[in-house]
Amino acid sequence: MTLSFKNRIALFTALAAALTIGFVFLMVYGVVYFSAYNHLDEDIYQEKEEVLNNLRLKGDSIIIESLPEWDEKEHQQTEVNPVFLQVVDKNGKLLFRSSNLRESVLLFNPATDQDAFFNSHIENQRVRQGQFPILNEQNFLIGHLSVGLSSQESSIVLHNLRNTLWAAFPALLLVLFWATSFAASKGITPVQQLIKAASVIDENHISNKLPLPETKDEIHQLAAAFNELLHRIDNSMQREKQFTADASHEIRTPLTAIRGTLEVLIRKQREPAQYQEKISQVIREVDRLHAMLDQLLQLARLEGGRTSVHEIPLQINALLASAADKWQPRLAEKNMALHFDIPPSEVVTTDPDLLGVVVDNIIGNAIKYGRNGGRIDCLWETGSRSLIIRDDGPGIPPEQLPYVFDRFYRTDDSRSSSVPGTGLGLAIAKKMSDLLNIRLTANNAKEAGAEFILRFPF
Ligand code: ADP
Repeated sequence: MTLSFKNRIALFTALAAALTIGFVFLMVYGVVYFSAYNHLDEDIYQEKEEVLNNLRLKGDSIIIESLPEWDEKEHQQTEVNPVFLQVVDKNGKLLFRSSNLRESVLLFNPATDQDAFFNSHIENQRVRQGQFPILNEQNFLIGHLSVGLSSQESSIVLHNLRNTLWAAFPALLLVLFWATSFAASKGITPVQQLIKAASVIDENHISNKLPLPETKDEIHQLAAAFNELLHRIDNSMQREKQFTADASHEIRTPLTAIRGTLEVLIRKQREPAQYQEKISQVIREVDRLHAMLDQLLQLARLEGGRTSVHEIPLQINALLASAADKWQPRLAEKNMALHFDIPPSEVVTTDPDLLGVVVDNIIGNAIKYGRNGGRIDCLWETGSRSLIIRDDGPGIPPEQLPYVFDRFYRTDDSRSSSVPGTGLGLAIAKKMSDLLNIRLTANNAKEAGAEFILRFPF
């Protein structure tokens, strides 16, 4: 059986209340019980003192004479406040009993020679009993005195109290359960309103917001947190849509170019040189498509969290040396030089493959967009643990700097130039840096050229 939320609140409250009420009832009953019997025990003590004062003890014998005490009315009657008396010798042999005991005897416990109190019965009458040792002048036990008082009234009061508490307990719990359930249902009304509003939000209405309750309580916080979540989902869906649109546009462009070139080629017979030129164009477009698909897959892997990171200590100098080797032919083509001089002691703990891709993208761009005969400097700042890669090309227009890490973003100059590119390289570099906890930022160098800074974690 599944309980509704409000009934669960009511149930837990009722259970907590059951424990508290049960404890209070037990305390009440205990206090009444002890005070009732305490009162009787005090009376029994008083009676015992009077009787013992009137007993005559001789050696081992207890001499019972007709004392005025025995003749008191309370020792004769059995109806109203009777007091039962009984004396036994040290062997438990009955020496005397008050006349109201008639044929009955008070319960005698031979096992104790101390003052003892207990409950017993005499002819269907409840009795509170005290049993006291009788000692002679030498302090030897010579018998026992038992004094009994009717506890009928106390036990009726206790019995009634117990019944009342038993009956009140479930009734109180029922009332409490009902009241809490009612209060809880009032309390969760705003939650129900939220559920209603949330249930109509689907992917087509993701920009809808939940109404915020007026009171700034936890429900208000929940609704606000939910709205923020919706906002993030909305943003991410928008980005996905934008990405799909951009990707299909970027893929369609080279495909259209390839198709156009091939159509031109088959229209009529051409010179071999023309075939060569057009087919080379097609190969370049196919290469571009290939590179773009590779980068798209890489990006998808990064965004899907499927890129694993294996960090090891890595010398910055060694990393740059292998990049320089790789780019040497391209550097030579553009008559450019790559400078770096970083002490081998400068070591970072990172994934060399992923960092290699990041550095490759940045150096590749510096060569692509740098000027012919220019230089690329790689510097290490120990204090801030930053690697700076700087070229002396045209740089990036300041107003376009914030967008260079966006997918498919190319500056206006790059788009209109013949420099090939997809606009994905820096987006990948940024995502990989994030994964490696490296802060990658783009800037323009003071003199000229673009500057990329990789700030490593300490
Ligand atoms: P692309 O494939 O176009 O190079 P990237 O994502 O690597 O894509 O770079 C995005 C854009 O940033 C480039 O198209 C270019 O406009 C600009 N850019 C990147 N690096 C440089 C640089 N060193 N100098 C000038 N512009 C650059």
